[in-house]
Amino acid sequence: MSATFTVVNPATAQPIREIARADEAQTDAAIARAVVAQWAWASLPPVARADALRAFARVVEAHVEELAQLEVLNSGHPIGSARWEASHVAQVLNFYAGAPERLSGQQIPVAGGLDVTFHEPYGVVGIIVPWNFPMTIASWGFAPALAAGNAVVLKPAELTPLTAMRLGELAREAGLPDGLFTVVTGSGSVVGQRFVSHPDVRKVVFTGSTSVGTDVAAGCARELKPVTLELGGKSANIVFADADLEKAAASAPGAVFDNAGQDCCARSRILVERSVYDRFLELLEPAVQAWRVGDPADERTEMGPLISASHRSTVAGFLDGAKVAFRGSAPEGDGFWFAPTVVLADRGDRIARDEVFGPVVAVLPFDDEADAIRLANDTIYGLAGSIWTENLGRAVRVSRGVKSGVLSVNSHSSVRYWTPFGGMKASGLGRELGPDAAEHFTETKNVFFATEA
Ligand code: NAP
Ligand code: MG
Repeated sequence: MSATFTVVNPATAQPIREIARADEAQTDAAIARAVVAQWAWASLPPVARADALRAFARVVEAHVEELAQLEVLNSGHPIGSARWEASHVAQVLNFYAGAPERLSGQQIPVAGGLDVTFHEPYGVVGIIVPWNFPMTIASWGFAPALAAGNAVVLKPAELTPLTAMRLGELAREAGLPDGLFTVVTGSGSVVGQRFVSHPDVRKVVFTGSTSVGTDVAAGCARELKPVTLELGGKSANIVFADADLEKAAASAPGAVFDNAGQDCCARSRILVERSVYDRFLELLEPAVQAWRVGDPADERTEMGPLISASHRSTVAGFLDGAKVAFRGSAPEGDGFWFAPTVVLADRGDRIARDEVFGPVVAVLPFDDEADAIRLANDTIYGLAGSIWTENLGRAVRVSRGVKSGVLSVNSHSSVRYWTPFGGMKASGLGRELGPDAAEHFTETKNVFFATEA
């Protein structure tokens, strides 16, 4: 493996810069510095950790435009989305800056003394992130982990390291101690694997594919270290005949084509009640054609390119033998462009079951409520989903029946930093974000103090 890798602009296919690949010794050195930094960090008064995280948030806020432009360059995200992502990082830091003073334990009645629990930090947490949302997914790990008194080593995806590297610098600018939060660039099989195997990394957070996530979990099992996994998805957008069809159709493209479909929460299956199937497709077609694909630096752009040439060929492979109903547009040129595509699918088709991670949506009809739930659950995944109906009882029944971690009725929202996020089944293990995330980066210690004289 060469000592550097080339980062490429996916909208132009042009190289941006060379990045160093850390080897195992360099990874170990970062972990060793983290061990030292963590000890001092956890010993600080809670308010001092809170202040440090607020300072980090303020520095990120002051650099939102710079971070957003970097993400446009490295990931091809539309500038409007990239600004949202950079601001989100600051908000996540601000939110978890409230945690150090709220990590209260319990006092439990025990005869002959005083029994209390402490939320102790794990120590060093290793965070491995993918290329689809490089900044935001990193912050879901590092902000609550730091708040709980841990040090963090972060491995960005080789395709998209630039914003993570900049966040590492901004943390130092904000005054976070040396070694507390280190971004280690390099390959998954070296740096990522070392987070799994190194005895001083006491918890691993992994976001990416289900296959690599399964290996990471197996490696963590051998070391008896806890792991949080955010993996793939094949989420259903379920449209009942009693729904506001206009609204459901108008919002469906955004729910799957946002970030060019490279979103683990993408509603990549649209399940439509048979009686309104034709009407729904009629309404969907103009919405797909109006979806603006183009230069990510243009403020009006809704969708940029795919992340790489190889990923584009993987996505294109899903159209072999598929029944394409209609497509949107995409620019010509050297970037990794792919036009939004709507496919009519049958149950059991590969396009109806496997994660595409691109701007391709499969539409399938269903017969009734029970059939809708069965079809929504007919996948190894269980991350997100949407339910469109004006019937309250049905909304409650279906949202309880669908085995997914994050559902939304009459909307497509999935991510709010103050609500829990994560998947069931092959979509993951554990939850990120929400009120309890900092606690997930601690383990409970029980101490009994005998009071008998
Ligand atoms: P991936 O291969 O699972 O990579 C995710 C991260 O894990 C990257 O940082 C990667 O490093 C690292 N990694 C790779 N092999 C590793 C190993 N053996 N041990 C530890 N870390 C390792 O995912 P991908 O290649 O980016 O995408 C492939 C597919 O995964 C997508 O098409 C999609 O289906 C799914 N995916 C899901 C999400 C999600 O949000 N849940 C995000 C991205 C992708 P490198 O830099 O070396 O690759
Ligand atoms: Mg990979």
